[in-house]
Amino acid sequence: MTWLLPRVAAAAGAVLGAGVLGSVVGQWLGAPTAGAVVGGALGAALVALADAWRGERLMRWLRGASAASQPADSGLWGEIGSRVERALRARDTSVEQERLRLRQFLSAIEASPNGVLLLDADDRIDWCNSTAADHFGLDPVRDRGQRVTNLVRAPAFVAHLQRRSFEQPVVFVAPPERATLSVLVRAYGDGQKLVLSQDVTERERTDAMRRDFVANVSHEMRTPLTVLAGFVETLSTLSLTEVERRRVLTLMEQQTTRMQTLLTDLLTLAQLEGSPRPPTDRWVALDGLLVQARADGEALSAGRHRIALTAQPGGEIAGNATELMSAVGNLVGNAVRYTPDGGRIDIRWRVRPDGSGELKVVDTGIGIDKEHIPRLTERFYRVDGSRSRGTGGTGLGLSIVKHVVQRHGGALGVTSEPGKGSCFTLVFPAARVRQGVAATAAPAA
Ligand code: ADP
Repeated sequence: MTWLLPRVAAAAGAVLGAGVLGSVVGQWLGAPTAGAVVGGALGAALVALADAWRGERLMRWLRGASAASQPADSGLWGEIGSRVERALRARDTSVEQERLRLRQFLSAIEASPNGVLLLDADDRIDWCNSTAADHFGLDPVRDRGQRVTNLVRAPAFVAHLQRRSFEQPVVFVAPPERATLSVLVRAYGDGQKLVLSQDVTERERTDAMRRDFVANVSHEMRTPLTVLAGFVETLSTLSLTEVERRRVLTLMEQQTTRMQTLLTDLLTLAQLEGSPRPPTDRWVALDGLLVQARADGEALSAGRHRIALTAQPGGEIAGNATELMSAVGNLVGNAVRYTPDGGRIDIRWRVRPDGSGELKVVDTGIGIDKEHIPRLTERFYRVDGSRSRGTGGTGLGLSIVKHVVQRHGGALGVTSEPGKGSCFTLVFPAARVRQGVAATAAPAA
């Protein structure tokens, strides 16, 4: 009430002053009392007018944008103005803080790797983050207010939304990217729904691969085991001649070897997947390794093929010798197994001008149709199953080769022409390749 006394005093002073002035003028006109009354009334009217003007000024400020400061005033109007201004500023600050909090909240949801979609009680889109927009093929601005089932028509999703209970997520393939989505719906508020989506394409693919892998391994093991069981029964129930007995034992040995090879390859793959990347500072000399690969190929070929080695001497690759030997051995073994007798096999090594290393195994064998090439490195993928098994193949060789070269930072390339031959190329990055100290050694050809 600090304004009350000065205000009453100022108003009374103004009325009194005007009254005195009026009485002076009235005296001059011969009617001092009437002059005092008229003067006092005029003073009161002036005070009221000034009050109305100050009030109107404040109202004008209140009606307009509150960005400007309140009109400078004192007394009652000044105090009202400053209190209103303080209240307005406090409201603006809290609205701004709320907005900031909402923005932070939305950016946090935006950063989520999962899609977040908010639906109203009629399943119309209220808001969605960009991940949900990607998953469902929505436009976050244009599609706001649209019924989601008009835009996402996957039957499993539509049926799920119409259900009352949403405990379990629904998994379906969303059209725009053909991604497999796992979608979880939660009801909240007054019939609104929170829809969380997750891209599980990779997980589904891995699960399918794992299932296929187990099925393939079981199949690969069952065949030789069935054959072995048959032979065991033959041996125990039939009386065989010595020649027959030897033949059965030889066949049994072949099946056992097949299982052993399969288990060795499976173990190699498991080790490749489970161990850290090969070292970058342990240098493997290629001269000896390639000579060994050629000798192994010759042993397998038993003189049926010509195997040549052309290598820049002293080449070295940083990595794991056993893995590299296994990769080259698999390629040379394949070249021997898929090249008819009398064919030629070339093992070549060179350092390219850009410093990368190139190891090629070229054969003049049966070749591979173009359509099979992208799938050759899949586990158990075979172009001709009976030829592969007949020559002791497991269907895992190229899978091992690809793993090894990729672990060494390189890549496997395949070119082939049916009936003419194939060329398998391993390219190693320059950082893992060097021409070692043995550069003066004679070419291993
Ligand atoms: P496999 O044990 O069956 O040889 P791989 O993974 O080593 O398994 O090879 C996969 C398939 O690729 C083989 O079954 C064969 O059909 C084909 N293949 C591999 N190398 C050659 C080659 N040098 N010439 C022709 N076909 C090949």
